[in-house]
Amino acid sequence: MDNEFQPEAKKRTFLGLLLAVLLLFTFLAAYLLLFARDPLAPISRNVMLVITVAILVFAVLFLFVLFMAILSIMQNRTFPGLGWLTGKTLYFLYPLVVHSGRMLHIAQESIQHSFIAVNNRLVVNRSLRSAAKEVLLLLPHCLQHDLCDYKITRDPHNCRRCGKCQVPEILDLAGEKGLAMEIVTGGTLARQAVEKHRPRAIIAVACERDLSSGILDSFPLPVYGVVNERPEGPCFNTRVNMSVLQETLDSILKK
Ligand code: SF4
Repeated sequence: MDNEFQPEAKKRTFLGLLLAVLLLFTFLAAYLLLFARDPLAPISRNVMLVITVAILVFAVLFLFVLFMAILSIMQNRTFPGLGWLTGKTLYFLYPLVVHSGRMLHIAQESIQHSFIAVNNRLVVNRSLRSAAKEVLLLLPHCLQHDLCDYKITRDPHNCRRCGKCQVPEILDLAGEKGLAMEIVTGGTLARQAVEKHRPRAIIAVACERDLSSGILDSFPLPVYGVVNERPEGPCFNTRVNMSVLQETLDSILKK
């Protein structure tokens, strides 16, 4: 599954930037190695050697993990024992990739979108098919219509099904599949929902920024991200592509 449900997703943006960053570190280490060999250098040769070797070791390790992640994505499989290491490395290097993209004038949202696509593929490749009761569906509060008077963050079933927003459709889908669903206003409520349900996997709908930070915060708990639609701008009467959501549930839930 290639974040197929969001065909615009471009995994290459994140992976390409990550590769560029790691190659840069490798070249930097090689440069330092040459510099450290100069006996007239003002900095201690030994100190330079230690720094260089440390950078080289990490750069090579990260390049290996990146290679395995790309192989995993291309072959739709995961490698025993490497799932955790791959996730940890990608999430650890994520801030570096975002900063590098910023320097290259690549929109942060596009990098985040790409990161979510990479994450989704890795989550699915880990064959984490879960029973519905082990999965939590997390939705953003902005899916609720702006003029709605009913408080659905405490209990989504407070929705009166007036038809102004998609909440009833999503409630029906969650009910049909038998999974817990929470509507949250931000990270704090999302964390409380996770504490409350203790899921084995999360399917989260949100914007690129919230999904990226949620994926990073929740690691190693797998989070499958579905990017929302924002026809009226951010955080206002947002929507979710129901067929994408349906297919995501089908791919994550046990038959
Ligand atoms: S469908 Fe439910 S949540 Fe949406 S506006 Fe109507 S009552 Fe509010």
